Amino acid sequence: MRLSADTQNGTTAMTATQTRSTATTTTGNVAAIDTIVSASNIVKTYRTGEVRVHALRGVHLDVERGEMVSIMGPSGCGKTTLLNTLAGLDTIDGGRILIEGSDLAGLSDAERTSYRAKRMGFVFQFYNLLPVLSAVENVELPLVVSKIRPGTARERALAMLAKVGLSDWAEHRPAELSGGQRQRVTIARALVNNPAIVWADEPTGDLDSETADEIMHLLIELNRTQNQTFVIVTHDLRIGQMTDRIIRMKDGRITGSEDQRRNDMPKRHCGGSATTPASTEQHSM
Ligand code: ADP
Ligand code: MG
Repeated sequence: MRLSADTQNGTTAMTATQTRSTATTTTGNVAAIDTIVSASNIVKTYRTGEVRVHALRGVHLDVERGEMVSIMGPSGCGKTTLLNTLAGLDTIDGGRILIEGSDLAGLSDAERTSYRAKRMGFVFQFYNLLPVLSAVENVELPLVVSKIRPGTARERALAMLAKVGLSDWAEHRPAELSGGQRQRVTIARALVNNPAIVWADEPTGDLDSETADEIMHLLIELNRTQNQTFVIVTHDLRIGQMTDRIIRMKDGRITGSEDQRRNDMPKRHCGGSATTPASTEQHSM
């Protein structure tokens, strides 16, 4: 029974991929496409006692370098599980995930942790900041883990805090910051190591809509200027609509992929160019 379900899903995913490559062909950029995340037939089943939860039932997904995609779907459909398995935070029961061409499952725990620290950034809903550390100390944590010299780490953390508009708040602890400011610290921490991919799970889930928009504009600006890849889980359509592509999930499967880039928008992930039409540059920050 599951075989037919997986096959059906494979067909859906292939249709989505085909649509994308055709669109790409018309812009003449086929050779420049650089797939940073390539997941095929991902299966994840949680077993708690006698109960089995089929969280992922054969997921196929490709993400291009520099792309900002959102993963949308109802609560419990497997969004967080997908993000965690793609990032190598959780194991899979079937399928294959390649990140920048490498299968992280083939690495030792230490190698995987090191790869994550250097190449990936994480933004979660509830900030996950250490309350006893100041904003700048929180931001420099990934650099400390990567054994960057303390003086250099401090400089880079302060520069990153400036990029998210928090220069004046560097010495403050999370409890002294607003929700939006805390999420900016989290974003600074996720990006300070200049990762290739940023994974965000409901990054605006705890924020009012105005602050959520500010945070999304910040992520879009960073995505454009630093050519980083963003995979954002959200149940908020407004947030999804701000990304390049919405990937729809239901019951552990991908049910659709909607490209939202306008045809006249240059593919910013090709060659690192960050040019965009003036009309899309109206940020509130
Ligand atoms: P979403 O993020 O879309 O809300 P999740 O990926 O968190 O969905 O969950 C997908 C399914 O897997 C849900 O039915 C959830 O209850 C189940 N699940 C998630 N994590 C675990 C776990 N650690 N143990 C058992 N079941 C889990
Ligand atoms: Mg979730």
